[in-house]
Amino acid sequence: MEQQKLLKSGEFLVREIEAKDVFIPEEFSEEQPMIAQTCKDFLETEVYPVIDKIEHAEPGLMPSLLKKAGELGLLGIAIPEQYNGFGQSFVTQMLVGEKIGAGYSFSVALMAHSGIGTLPIMYYGTEEQRQKYVTKLATGEYIGAYCLTEPGAGSDANSGKTNARLSEDGKYYILNGQKMWITNAGFADVQTVFAKIDNDRVLSAFIVERNYPGVVVNPDEKKMGIKGSSTAQIFYNDVKVPVENMLGKRGEGFRIALSILHMGRIKLGANVLGSAKKSLTDAIKYANERKQFNVLISTFGAIKYKIAEMAIKTFTTESAVYRVSKDIDDLIHQNIENGMEYGKASIEGISHYAVEAAILKVYGSETLDYVVDEALQIHGGMGYSAELFIEKGYRDSRINRIFEGTNEINRLLVVDTAMKRAMKGDFDLFGEAEKIMNSIDSLTDSKKNNESYYEEKKRYIKNFKKVILILIDAASKHFERKIIDEQEVLNNIANMMMELYVSESTLLRVEKLESMKGASSVSIYKDILDVNIYDTASKIQKESIDAVNSLEGFASCDKLLKAINILTAVRGCNIKEARRRIANKLIEENCYKL
Ligand SMILES: Cc1cc2nc3c(=O)[nH]c(=O)nc-3n(C[C@H](O)[C@H](O)[C@H](O)COP(=O)(O)OP(=O)(O)OC[C@H]3O[C@@H](n4cnc5c(N)ncnc54)[C@H](O)[C@@H]3O)c2cc1C
Repeated sequence: MEQQKLLKSGEFLVREIEAKDVFIPEEFSEEQPMIAQTCKDFLETEVYPVIDKIEHAEPGLMPSLLKKAGELGLLGIAIPEQYNGFGQSFVTQMLVGEKIGAGYSFSVALMAHSGIGTLPIMYYGTEEQRQKYVTKLATGEYIGAYCLTEPGAGSDANSGKTNARLSEDGKYYILNGQKMWITNAGFADVQTVFAKIDNDRVLSAFIVERNYPGVVVNPDEKKMGIKGSSTAQIFYNDVKVPVENMLGKRGEGFRIALSILHMGRIKLGANVLGSAKKSLTDAIKYANERKQFNVLISTFGAIKYKIAEMAIKTFTTESAVYRVSKDIDDLIHQNIENGMEYGKASIEGISHYAVEAAILKVYGSETLDYVVDEALQIHGGMGYSAELFIEKGYRDSRINRIFEGTNEINRLLVVDTAMKRAMKGDFDLFGEAEKIMNSIDSLTDSKKNNESYYEEKKRYIKNFKKVILILIDAASKHFERKIIDEQEVLNNIANMMMELYVSESTLLRVEKLESMKGASSVSIYKDILDVNIYDTASKIQKESIDAVNSLEGFASCDKLLKAINILTAVRGCNIKEARRRIANKLIEENCYKL
């Protein structure tokens, strides 16, 4: 592998990427769709038939479903064979996450178990810890949980009060404290618990078994959605945790917690995709059955608009999800080639892409909220009935903007991480920004004569990047160190970066698809791209103008506003007809299949 070609996290802001260098879902191997089908079959045969019982949290049902999934191998996808798993690529892990994502509460239980519940031990555990726990977590013999949040420590996760002190004989850590909102708490056998040793400033991590005396699990919380997922408080009262159950080194817990959250976030991006596709398909089917004014509601332009918008957001999210998944796979392989052990190579590879992880988390969860809302709307009054899956999907969606780091925290991370990586020297963000600022008076939209379709779209993307760079440069100069207190402006920049990354991923996917399948096969994808770029331009324009107008007193505001108008101008197209073509295809096929 050519190591220098790997894109650094956040580097998409300054580098031009070629279509041949991105992975697209149309390149799945022969085996990957078969694994995806196994997941779909599992939901159809094991989960959907008992969905009401799951919703009512029938005792024992969720753990028994997880164990069945374990027998099929669905819990060990990310675990190497020597620990009873299947050692699949990161792309495959994401595909499984996507397909299971259509499983409502079951999906939350499975993803929490096989992600944040298992992987801290896989990635940071000693060989003994892996043999003892991971081998059983991979098969479902044990169920896992991740215990970070406390009543006083949510977004500020390092502020927890749970404490560990070494016993006098030096054999145990005595754990005292309280965790809350813990997924799978009601039945998890193994918990990764974060606590501070003595008066340490940072967390350490411990593997705690449910059966250790002093572990007390409260009854499940009553929740708005994901009602079948167990969420509870856990108390630790003088729990004796063997010293060999410390995970990583003393004080390494916060780093472990954050790295695992990067992983959780990125997988959430895949997970919400499966859920969005399910709700969208349900909405299309309903629109093709329901008649009003003597015609099917799917014939109405307002309904077509909704179907097309849902499809565009789903397709564009998917483009970004699999693009970064393969980038992560490549980095993991590179790490292994450079001599890193699998667990370390994996978590280093995943957490490297922290900017993109936060983008996928926010963009994906907000896409899903949009989709479930419009899918419900298409159902009219029936959408409000608890008889249909659609209402469940609507309620279940909402949690995705809260856990794995709230979307507010993740928006801040998008910008903060990119700027820190740039300052570390990963890529030249400020130099590029400076160059654009220096030539701002003579800035043009760089349009060439006889541009091809893709040349034109790439020019737009390049121009959007310029807008973001000049905004980062101007905001950094204006606010200096106080920029961290200017969350509204940071949000403007984060929103632009998200739109840009997703649009660029979509553009590269469509271009690559055309090179694989020929121009006649991609017309619908070009419609998606046209509408997406058109919308992205106006979103970037609005966010950037808002940001510039917030830089009161900054000398170059007028120049910036002029530049923004030049750089966000895109050619108009008949987006109404483009959306109709997209919707008509899905309506004809009676499902979301793009
Ligand atoms: C159903 C469910 C399952 C969960 N599962 C788990 C689990 O398995 N393990 C686990 O450890 N945790 C879990 N959590 C906890 C979850 O991760 C936290 O709820 C989340 O991190 C937010 O923390 P908080 O609830 O304390 O909100 P707070 O941190 O109090 O946030 C309240 C609001 O303030 C905003 N805010 C906070 N800080 C800032 C800031 N610096 N800048 C701008 N805005 C800010 C937030 O974005 C939010 O809008 C779960 C939660 C739920 C509801």
